[in-house]
Amino acid sequence: MTDYRTTGNTGHGLKLLDRFWRFVEKTDSCWVWKGHLIKGYGQFAVAGKVIINAHIFSYVLLKKGIPHNLQLDHLCRNRACDGVCSVETEER
Ligand SMILES: [Zn+2]
Repeated sequence: MTDYRTTGNTGHGLKLLDRFWRFVEKTDSCWVWKGHLIKGYGQFAVAGKVIINAHIFSYVLLKKGIPHNLQLDHLCRNRACDGVCSVETEER
């Protein structure tokens, strides 16, 4: 698995994590993604090319990885949410 935490500078003068958190607006209930959305899901470009769902990126950051046999779903049903409330793991 790619370790996104050590991917480092994006070449735009901001480190990857700084760029990520600039798109996140924390509210009382959810962390709302302020960047690009596709079908309601936050999209975040890693290393300028790999687009991943923002809530998955957030989950990897906070939980240090995703078990390979699990997928992430939005517990709070807010697709743009990146908070810990946003994800539950379900067996595939
Ligand atoms: Zn939420």
